[in-house]
Amino acid sequence: MADILYLYDGQVYANITNTCNCNCVFCIRRQHAGIGEAASLWHSFAPSSKEVIEEMARFDFSRQNTLVYCGYGEPTCALDVLLDSAKYIKSNHNISIRVNTNGLGNVYNKFNILPQLAEVVDSLSISLNAPDAATYEAVSLPVYDGAFDSVLEFIKESKLWIPDITLSIVDVLPKEQQEACKEVASSLSLPLRIRKYS
Ligand code: SF4
Repeated sequence: MADILYLYDGQVYANITNTCNCNCVFCIRRQHAGIGEAASLWHSFAPSSKEVIEEMARFDFSRQNTLVYCGYGEPTCALDVLLDSAKYIKSNHNISIRVNTNGLGNVYNKFNILPQLAEVVDSLSISLNAPDAATYEAVSLPVYDGAFDSVLEFIKESKLWIPDITLSIVDVLPKEQQEACKEVASSLSLPLRIRKYS
C-alpha cells in the first residue's frame, strides 16, 4: 500500500486517491513514483475512509498547522473519503484543512459538493492551469468536454462557500499566457500562484 499521509518540506499531505479526471502535461506523477518522504504514492487499491482515518490516528499532527489534501489523484474523486477523514481531523485536531483541486469535483460527482466541503475545509487551491479553453484542453487533458468552463463555474461557486481561495498555474505556460491568467484571476478577485514545474 502506498503512503496515504506524507511529508513534503515539513508539510503533511493526504494522498487519498489515484483517480483523476485530467492528465496534466506537468503532473509530477508522470515522472516520479513518489515525492517528499513518500517512496510511492501509487495505491495498489483505493483506500477506504476507515484506512485513511486509521493512518491519521497513527500520525503525529502536533507540529502541523495545516493538512493538505493533495496526492497522485484528484481528492474530490474520492469525496466520501475526503469528507469522512476531514471530519475526523476537525474533531481531533486544531488544524486547518486545505484541498488542492482541479475544480472538476462538481462535474465528477454530478452535484454541488461545495456545501459539504465548506463544513470541513478552510481553504481551496484551485488549478486554473490556463487562461482559455483551448489552452486548458492542451495542458490539462481533461476527460470532459467544456471542462474549462466547468472550472470557472466551480471557482465562482467556491467563493460563496469557502473563505480562502487561491488559483494556481504552472510555469510551463508561455509568459504571455501567464499574464493572461493573472488577468483571469484578477477578474475573479482571487490571488494567483505560479508554481514552478519540477
Ligand atoms: S489534476 Fe492533479 S493529479 Fe490530476 S493529472 Fe492534473 S496535476 Fe495530476
